[in-house]
Amino acid sequence: MRQPLKLTTSLLDWYRDNRRDLPWRTEDPDPYRVWLSEIMLQQTTVAVVRSYFEAFTGRWPTLDDLAAAELDAVLHAWQGLGYYARARNLHRCAKVLVTEFGGRFPESEKELLRLPGIGAYTAAAITAIAFGQPSAPVDGNIARVIARLMKLETPLPGLRRDVGELLAPLIPAQKPGDMVQALMDLGSAICKPGKPLCDQCPWRTSCAALKAGVVEQLPVKAAKKIKPVRHGVVFWIEDDESHVLLRRRPEKGLLGGMMEIPSSDWREKKWRMEEAIKEAPVLAEWQTLPGTVRHTFTHFHLHLIVLSTHTHQRKTNSGVWCTPNQFSSHALPSVMKKVIRHVVG
Ligand code: SF4
Repeated sequence: MRQPLKLTTSLLDWYRDNRRDLPWRTEDPDPYRVWLSEIMLQQTTVAVVRSYFEAFTGRWPTLDDLAAAELDAVLHAWQGLGYYARARNLHRCAKVLVTEFGGRFPESEKELLRLPGIGAYTAAAITAIAFGQPSAPVDGNIARVIARLMKLETPLPGLRRDVGELLAPLIPAQKPGDMVQALMDLGSAICKPGKPLCDQCPWRTSCAALKAGVVEQLPVKAAKKIKPVRHGVVFWIEDDESHVLLRRRPEKGLLGGMMEIPSSDWREKKWRMEEAIKEAPVLAEWQTLPGTVRHTFTHFHLHLIVLSTHTHQRKTNSGVWCTPNQFSSHALPSVMKKVIRHVVG
C-alpha cells in the first residue's frame, strides 16, 4: 500500500474536527459501554441505538448490574432493536464475565471471541477502542470505505478478509481506537453506500475508486439469495374476561425466551387445518381469521394464519393470561405485535 502513514494522518486530522459526539465515546473509554454500544450497533443505526444505550446504562450502569438483571427485563428493554439473540447473548456474556472473569473484560481478541455474542468484528473493536490495541475490525461500513480507497473488486463476504489484511497497516500503535472510530464516522458521514460525498473526503486525493470513476460500483455485492417462505399457525385463545393466552418460546432457537401468542412450528410446507389444530395448546373449536400476517426475518419470510377460539374455562396452566392492554409489559417480538394488530386492530 502506498503511504499508509499519510492516509492515517489525514483521516485522524479529519476525525479531530468532525467526530460524532456519541454517549459511549469518552476520553477514557469504559469497556462495558464500548461493548454494549457495539452489540447494539450490529444491524442497527446510531440514531436508533442512542436512546436504547442511554436507557440501558441508566438502568444498568455497570456490568454487575446487567449481570444481576432478569433476562425478561433485558429482553423487554431490547424491544424495538430486533435480533433478540443479541440481547440474550448480551445478558449471558455479562453473567460469564462476572462469574468467570471477576467482572472485567479480557483484553485479548482471542479471549473475547470465546464470550457469548462476541464475533471477530466486535472483539477487534473492543480491543482497539477500550484497550488501545492496534486491532483492525471490519464491518460493512469499514469494508466499503477500504474497498473504494483501494479499488478492491472482491465481492462480499470474501471482501472482509482482504480488507482486514489491508487495513492493519493503517491502524497506528498510538490511539488505534481513534483510527477505528474515524473509519466508522467516515463510512457513516462521507463514504456512504449511495452518493458518497467524495469532495469532502480526507482521502479524495488517494482514492483509487474515485480516480477510476467506479465509486458507486464498489463494493461489489454478492448475488442476492432468494429468501424462502415459511408457514405457521397462531392460536389466539381468549376467555370470558378478554384474557389471551401468551407463552414463552423455548430458550434455544429463533426468538428464544421471548413471549408469543402460541404458534405451531414455522415450516416450508403450508399447514392443513386438521394438521394445525393438533399443534394447538388446548382442544377447542377453532375459527380461521381472514388474512395472513406476514413478517420477514433475516433468512426467510414468514406467513402466519391466525386461528381463534373462545373459552369459558382456562384449559391450560402453562403460559400467562393477560388482556391486550397488558401485552406491553411482556417481551413480545415484532412478529407477535403484528399478530395482535391483526386480531384486535
Ligand atoms: S473519495 Fe469518495 S469513495 Fe473514496 S474513500 Fe472518500 S468518500 Fe469514499
